[in-house]
Amino acid sequence: MAMPTSRSPLQVLVIGGGIGGLCLAQGLRQAGVEVSVFERDGSADGRRQGYRLRISPEGERGLLACLPTALGELLSATANVRDDSGLVAYDEHLVEQWAPSFEDPRADAPDKIDAVDRVTLRRILLAGLEEVVRFGKNFRSLERTAAGRVVAHFEDGSSAEGDVLIAADGTNSRVREQLRPWDRPRDLGIRTVFSRIPRAAAVAAGLPEALQDRFSYVIGTDGHHLGLMPMTFRARPSEAAARLWPTAELVDSDDYYMSVFNVHQADLGMDDEAFFALSGEQLCRLVVERTSAWHPDLRGIFGHALADTTFAVALRVTQPVQPWEAGPVVPLGDAVHTMPPSGGVGANTAVRDAEALTVLLTAVDRGERELDEAMAEYQKAMAEYATQGAEMSLRIAQWSIRKAGAQESAG
Ligand SMILES: Cc1cc2nc3c(=O)[nH]c(=O)nc-3n(C[C@H](O)[C@H](O)[C@H](O)COP(=O)(O)OP(=O)(O)OC[C@H]3O[C@@H](n4cnc5c(N)ncnc54)[C@H](O)[C@@H]3O)c2cc1C
Repeated sequence: MAMPTSRSPLQVLVIGGGIGGLCLAQGLRQAGVEVSVFERDGSADGRRQGYRLRISPEGERGLLACLPTALGELLSATANVRDDSGLVAYDEHLVEQWAPSFEDPRADAPDKIDAVDRVTLRRILLAGLEEVVRFGKNFRSLERTAAGRVVAHFEDGSSAEGDVLIAADGTNSRVREQLRPWDRPRDLGIRTVFSRIPRAAAVAAGLPEALQDRFSYVIGTDGHHLGLMPMTFRARPSEAAARLWPTAELVDSDDYYMSVFNVHQADLGMDDEAFFALSGEQLCRLVVERTSAWHPDLRGIFGHALADTTFAVALRVTQPVQPWEAGPVVPLGDAVHTMPPSGGVGANTAVRDAEALTVLLTAVDRGERELDEAMAEYQKAMAEYATQGAEMSLRIAQWSIRKAGAQESAG
């Protein structure tokens, strides 16, 4: 017998309190839909996913649609001071190679959000969700009930039941592992070292003025690739929070650059086991050594990268992005479409998913839509725009690495 699919009112379970899961929870909460988020981490702190996050026009729209107005204003007040010069790519001798321009109707808006500090964003996304987010809940497995509902089991022995379960548990999704173990993201063979460099130290060390306020890429002919992205806060997060949302626990930070150093695995001179065992200090030294022949104005600044903020990741991609099977388990974000950070669209695509799901799940909650057909509509659109985002990110990642003559690994 076919299971009933009409669910009103709706109970939504979200596995994963990252960018996408929290954005969805904010949107659903504003719409009055019952939602619970289950997050593996013990608290809001301590995730190693980089520092500065580029926000695309779609990401900005989705964040502002899902957040209450005052939290959207807080995000804008603490965003990066926008500059008008866009992205520029240089060679290692600082000769300009490429300066693409991007269409954005809100480019000149004074409250434009073009990049944010990741820690600040996460705390803004958590604000007001104290009753919704449960920390320390490590998803273990799921099962479906005879009534067509879904039960999530956690490592601590507890469980939760709902009408729909959103898999927002990121690249290494356990939900995906249970349902689609063959659908893992592919290793691109590119290894990336992320660091945080205090702005004042980089400028004092001679960072050229042209690179100080814009997103710059340096593509070395020696097989290495470096991105330098400024994060200059519009306002101190704690002061902006006191004005706009006093209970948001925002942490102040000095302005900084996020540096992103890419190298092909084949050029590392060590296997992955040895590479991922390197300490932050050793990773910083590796970047300094590998850029020692670069323009003298670039060399000095990497010595100021903070070792305790430096970490390495392997770049991966989901290709093709495919909708999951119809039913009460629906994916969002990196769980279904992992992309290399080179395109700066992974989080923005997760936010776009959250915006679309907010609209559709709200309609289901109000009895205006059937759950199955609404989720099929979401998954069809998501697979299309996420495939485009993944392909664009892949092209940029391969462009920078190919320049050095290295090949993508079979993964
Ligand atoms: C260094 C770096 C820089 C990046 N820069 C950009 C950028 O500038 N712009 C951009 O758009 N994207 C960027 N990305 C990509 C972006 O970070 C991801 O696409 C985005 O975080 C995906 O959001 P998500 O909610 O799907 O997953 P995540 O943000 O990864 O959240 C997943 C959540 O699920 C939780 N979780 C995992 N397993 C379990 C479990 N078993 N039980 C419960 N909870 C679980 C995790 O703890 C986490 O909180 C970058 C990525 C990296 C690594």
